[in-house]
Amino acid sequence: AGNPVLQLWFDGELVRADAPLAPLTTHALHYGSGVFEGIRSYQTVDGGSAVFRLPEHMERMRKGCELLGIDFDVRQATAATLQVLRANRQSAAYIRPLAWCGTGSIGLDVAPLSKHLMVATFGTVVHLSGSAVKLGVSSWRRNPATSLPPLKLCGAYVNSILAKHEAKTRGFDEALFVDEAGMVVECTGANVFMLNGDKLTAVEHADALPGITRDTVIALTGAESRAVPLAELMQADEVFVCGTAAEVTPINILNEHRFAYDKRGREIAQLYRDVVSGADSSHRAWLTDVGLP
Ligand code: PMP
Repeated sequence: AGNPVLQLWFDGELVRADAPLAPLTTHALHYGSGVFEGIRSYQTVDGGSAVFRLPEHMERMRKGCELLGIDFDVRQATAATLQVLRANRQSAAYIRPLAWCGTGSIGLDVAPLSKHLMVATFGTVVHLSGSAVKLGVSSWRRNPATSLPPLKLCGAYVNSILAKHEAKTRGFDEALFVDEAGMVVECTGANVFMLNGDKLTAVEHADALPGITRDTVIALTGAESRAVPLAELMQADEVFVCGTAAEVTPINILNEHRFAYDKRGREIAQLYRDVVSGADSSHRAWLTDVGLP
């Protein structure tokens, strides 16, 4: 009875997802010396299941690992992802691969440390939703790319956690990072778009993560990509954010300003759902079949 315990892939084996596996002296626990990804699989219109843009997620993870001195085998991580999805029989999941520095030293040089890889899957996704999504401009600055490159390095996410915590405390759903010059950067886990008339613009910023969903929306809509001041975003007809977990989420409120429309945002959200589910057959190349059921 009840939900079966999920499994996760850890250093080559499937193990219970709730097993205590990493020692408390794990380097990544102390210093954030790890790299992760956030990926999704979807049930497809033909009754199967597919991972969306798996190679692109793996390539971003490989780049982060390279920077941190962690060997990352894309083929192994890809196989592990598909194996754990099949083992858990999840046709739609949020997939979390994590590579990290383990034990062997408590110093900052990662060379002597053991390195590990795990892939966990979750049946539910934490994303932005609700009747009116409220975005608040953060008082925190985004990690500058010159100090922490915009990759999915574990420690870098403390910056997002601070901004998210502040946003929630102030009654917002999500935080918007803006730089010293008043340029829009991104949200804590999503990239930003605006619409003016027919013109769709993807906010571009050196400190923002190059989102795979952002890239997808640009490919689907032909949106331009450029730097956008906060003052201009405030004047937009519509604003939406996007990310693997958030998908495409229209923003209704930014600080005290309420946007009049979310029509185009909703249309693009639907288009995105059609693409990830294979209903839009022209983008099947982005889907990796899981082999379920
Ligand atoms: N920015 C940040 C900081 C993120 O963590 C994410 C989620 N990975 C995104 C943007 C959106 O990226 P993607 O579309 O690749 O999920």
